[in-house]
Amino acid sequence: MALVVHKYGGSSVADAEKILNVARRIGAVKDGGADIVAVASAMGDTTDDLIDLARTVSPEPDPRELDLLLSTGELVSCALLTMALRRLGYDAITLSGFQAGIHTDTMYGKARIHRIDPARVRSELAEGKVVIVAGFQGITDDLDITTLGRGGSDTTAVALAAALEAERCDIYTDVDGIYTADPRVAPQARKLAEVGYEEMLELASYGAKMHPRSIELGAAYQVPIYVASSFGDAPGTLIHQVAEMEGMENRVKVTGIAYQANVAKITVRSVPDRPGVAAALFEPLAAVGISVDTIVQNTSVERATDISFTVARSDLPRAIREVETGLAALGAAEVVSDPTLASVSVVGSGMQNTPGYASRMFRILAEGGINIDMITTSEIRISCIIREEQVADAVRLLHRGFQLDEEE
Ligand code: ASP
Ligand code: MG
Repeated sequence: MALVVHKYGGSSVADAEKILNVARRIGAVKDGGADIVAVASAMGDTTDDLIDLARTVSPEPDPRELDLLLSTGELVSCALLTMALRRLGYDAITLSGFQAGIHTDTMYGKARIHRIDPARVRSELAEGKVVIVAGFQGITDDLDITTLGRGGSDTTAVALAAALEAERCDIYTDVDGIYTADPRVAPQARKLAEVGYEEMLELASYGAKMHPRSIELGAAYQVPIYVASSFGDAPGTLIHQVAEMEGMENRVKVTGIAYQANVAKITVRSVPDRPGVAAALFEPLAAVGISVDTIVQNTSVERATDISFTVARSDLPRAIREVETGLAALGAAEVVSDPTLASVSVVGSGMQNTPGYASRMFRILAEGGINIDMITTSEIRISCIIREEQVADAVRLLHRGFQLDEEE
C-alpha cells in the first residue's frame, strides 16, 4: 500500500479549528486508500512561549531540561490531533520521538538524528492506524530527550519518509510553496513549481523558511519534498532532483533571492598570522555548537591579521564569551562585534561557470546605496552581508534587477 508522510507546521495546528482542519486533510488521505504518517509541530508560538517561560526562572536554562520542556509542545499538538482524528472516526495513535524510534546524538537544542528504528510506526500502520509523530524531538542512547533545533519538525518528517521508504514527504505550512523571494518583502515574487535540492538548500540556509537539514536529508535519500499550504488546495512547490534540462541556456539562471535577518558579526583584531590560529579560534565555538557562517580573514600586515565572522544574533553573547576566553591564548588584541546585520543572497544553479553574476549583484546594491560589509560565494550562491535596515530594499532591488519580478 502507498505510504505518504505529511508534516504540519505550528501555524497549521494553532487552534482547535485548525487541528480539526488538519485531521480532515489527513483523513482524506486515509479515505483515498493510502497509509499515512503525519508529523506536527507545536501549536502556534508554543515553542517561543516555553522558551520565554524557561527564562523567567533561569536566564540560561540547563540545555537538557530545556529540551525536555520544549518537547512537550509537540506532544500537546499531536495528542490533540489524534483526538480529533478519532472523533472523526479514524483509528489513530500519537507517538513521541522516543516511541517513534528517532535516535539522536546528545547535542541538546541541535541534536542530529543518527538512526530511526521504525518498527513501532510500522506495526501501528499494519494495524490500519494513522500514525501521528511528534516533530522536532528524539532520544539519546541514554534515553534523554533531545530537540533537533528550531524548525526541526521538517527534518523529523523527511527522516521518517526516508526510513519508511515513503514515496514523498509533504510539508504543509501557511505559505503555498517556495517563492523567488519572500512575498512579504518582495510583492512581485513568483511561486516556483519545482526547485532542485541544491538550490533549495541554499535558499533554506539563507532565509526561505525550511529546516535546511530536511533538504540535505531529502537529497541524500532522494525523498521528493512537496511544500504546500494546509489552508487550501493551491499547487505547491516540488523540491526534487531537477534534471539537467535540454536548452539549459534558456533557463532563468537566478532561481531566487534569499535573506536572513538577525546576523551578528564578530571581529577579532590583530591575531598573529601563523598556522593553527584559525583552528584555535573556531574550535571552541564548534564545541559549544555555535555555527559560524561567513568568515573573512584580512591579508596580514606585520604578521597580524583581523578575522571577522558572522553568527546568529542569538548566539552572539555566547560566541563572544568563547572567543574572549581564547583571546589570551591566541595573542589577539581585541574583540569587537556588531549585532545589527543581515545577509542577502542570489541563488541559482544556472550561475555555475557563468561569469558576471557577482558584479551585477554588487552594481544593483551600489545603485541602491547599499554598502556591502562582507561577501561569500558558493558555486550556486552569492551572499552579501549588509545593514539590517536595508535588507528589504536589497531583496526587492535584486529581485527586479535579476528579472524575477512577475510580468505585469
Ligand atoms: N516547534 C519547534 C519550533 O518552533 C519545531 C518546529 O516548529 O518545527 O521551532
Ligand atoms: Mg514552530
